[in-house]
Amino acid sequence: MQPEIEIFFDEIEGRTVFAEVRDLLAEWRYAAREDGGLPHQARFERHLSGDRGINLMLMRHLDGDFHYETVGSHIAALFGHDPARRRLSELNYPGAQAYLPRYKYCIETGAPLFTVQRKVSFGIAGASERLLLPLKHPEGGEGVLVYVRSRADNYDLIRAVFNASQHGVLVVTAVRDESGTATDLEITAINAAAATLIGGEPVELVGRKLKELLPRLDFDSVWPYLMASLETGDTRVYESLRASGDSEGVYRISSARVGDGLAITISDLTQLQKAMQTLETQHASLVKVNAELRSEVVRRRRLEAELKELAATDPLTGIANRRSFTQAMTEFMDMADKEATQVALILFDIDDFKAINDRHGHPAGDIVLQSIARNVSAHFGSDTVFGRLGGEEFGVFLPDTPETLACQTAEELRQVIETSSFGIEAGPFKVTASFGVATLPLPAATDRLVALADEALYSAKHKGRNRVECSCAAEQVLNTGTGN
Ligand code: GH3
Ligand code: MG
Ligand code: MG
Repeated sequence: MQPEIEIFFDEIEGRTVFAEVRDLLAEWRYAAREDGGLPHQARFERHLSGDRGINLMLMRHLDGDFHYETVGSHIAALFGHDPARRRLSELNYPGAQAYLPRYKYCIETGAPLFTVQRKVSFGIAGASERLLLPLKHPEGGEGVLVYVRSRADNYDLIRAVFNASQHGVLVVTAVRDESGTATDLEITAINAAAATLIGGEPVELVGRKLKELLPRLDFDSVWPYLMASLETGDTRVYESLRASGDSEGVYRISSARVGDGLAITISDLTQLQKAMQTLETQHASLVKVNAELRSEVVRRRRLEAELKELAATDPLTGIANRRSFTQAMTEFMDMADKEATQVALILFDIDDFKAINDRHGHPAGDIVLQSIARNVSAHFGSDTVFGRLGGEEFGVFLPDTPETLACQTAEELRQVIETSSFGIEAGPFKVTASFGVATLPLPAATDRLVALADEALYSAKHKGRNRVECSCAAEQVLNTGTGN
């Protein structure tokens, strides 16, 4: 480690980092040659009010003490107070007292004096420079013009970011042997987050070697990456399962070459990783629940459709029941387009069905009902609105069909039934039905249409069965069939 304060009398130009120090020195040397000894203070007074005045102070040597005559604002800020018009011996802080012999020495030798004060602050190795220039005071005796500036001046912002970072940041310089091989990395800067990860305070860790800290760092696995990054200049990013000896975790480490060293950042991903795992688990179970919900929805939709189908269908014959038949009629009549001008309804009822049941048994009656439903369906095709309205009574709805055509259709059906034979154990037998046909111009009401068709059907029964009756005004009878 370097001493805290270094004092130089020569090669000042090569040691300073500030061009202003070099300018002031050149000006002083020129003035000293011109004035043949100490330069007059008046030559420098213009600087005090200029740009560089903030880093300058003027002190008068009087009675073995030094009086602060002018103090630049930056210096006052650095000191933490403005000592203007006070004496150095009065000031009660060690930094100021330490400079008293140096100011005196500067006056005695009549030569410039340069100091570099090193200081580790916030984990960054910093330094401040002072240039002391002896002058001839206008009121007799001597004075000293002092330029004071912290080398870290320019780094205020970087330092703030560096220290505010939640990621560990450290800057290391290569330690090389005679052959130039990097044998270690020495910490030149480290922020609080990195110091916490390593286990220590930033100030105590600056100047330490990484290998010496290895047990605390667990950098073994990371070391080859650091060396590769140092030698190739590539930025490397890698993950380490443990960056610090104290905690198990996942760390992302990246290194980038800076000068003959590296800037290393360490991000603690442990909490993030845990949160990710929790999220993944939650996501997986959500996906599962979601899939279950979706198949439940599908199952319910299917059930709903089945129920709807069941509710709309007559279980014995599989054709529409009264409810869905009436609904289909009503829907058509409500929504009929302008081109449809009329509707027709055929109602038919099996003749003497009670007797069939009585003679052949109820199951045989069922077979008759099923056969008639099948035969009528086959006669029309599946698009026709055809339903069992109850017992042995059926309906056929014919949208946009004129009366004559509806009556013809009923007659065709009558013949279909009359000519069907029904195979049951007792042998084939014949069945007939009576038909009532009603037509109405649109718009029309379902109830009215049904009532008219019913009347016609009643009339067909009354007139001897196995015949078609129309509700039309003429009461025309298309066919009397074979019955009487
Ligand atoms: P009509 O010529 O005047 O219509 O005489 P009908 O015997 O057919 O009429 P009625 O109303 O007197 O008798 C109807 C019979 O239909 C009575 C009932 O037992 C029977 N029936 C109703 N539903 C079913 C069924 O689902 N299966 C069977 N096998 N018979 C039924
Ligand atoms: Mg009947
Ligand atoms: Mg009946």
